[in-house]
Amino acid sequence: MITVETVQQRAEADAKTYGYDLNPNPDFLRDLLEGLKKNEERYGYPSCPCRLASGNFEVDRDIMCPCDYRDPDVAEFGACYCALYVRKDVFEGKTPLQPVPERRSLEKQARAYGTTTEVSAENKVESVATAAEASEIKMKLWYCKQCGYVVFREEPPYICPICKAKRELFAELRIRIDAIG
Ligand code: SF4
Repeated sequence: MITVETVQQRAEADAKTYGYDLNPNPDFLRDLLEGLKKNEERYGYPSCPCRLASGNFEVDRDIMCPCDYRDPDVAEFGACYCALYVRKDVFEGKTPLQPVPERRSLEKQARAYGTTTEVSAENKVESVATAAEASEIKMKLWYCKQCGYVVFREEPPYICPICKAKRELFAELRIRIDAIG
């Protein structure tokens, strides 16, 4: 059985190898580790807790933690997309944690989500239409009450990838397809 402690040990070992640290906020860290554990139990691999996995290993390969985007994100922004891995200056509080934009391509997101796609607030209208064409049913739209980040998926993410708010701060909106056109 996978435990949060096992997931944490794995992440710590990996962070050490690359000279990173794990997020210094214990509650936030615990949420991310819980998310990784649940994803591993659900899919058989630890897909990113801030992104929706397809359940198809080949499609999700790039977002298996640590994902393909971690190193460039840590180098450029000081943290990975979820802020699980952080640079030393961020860990030490010398540099503030900032939102990390999604580096995964929209094509890959669309492949992973099938009828849904993860979007930023700026392009949500376009993405609503895209998802609407593919879906023809009511969709679940979640938005972060703290920063306004918008995401289409079955459940809200464990952590808001933009402002790091917890899952509880996501509210569900229901949109009817016939209301979009
Ligand atoms: S963004 Fe961070 S937590 Fe998510 S898969 Fe990449 S390294 Fe792991």
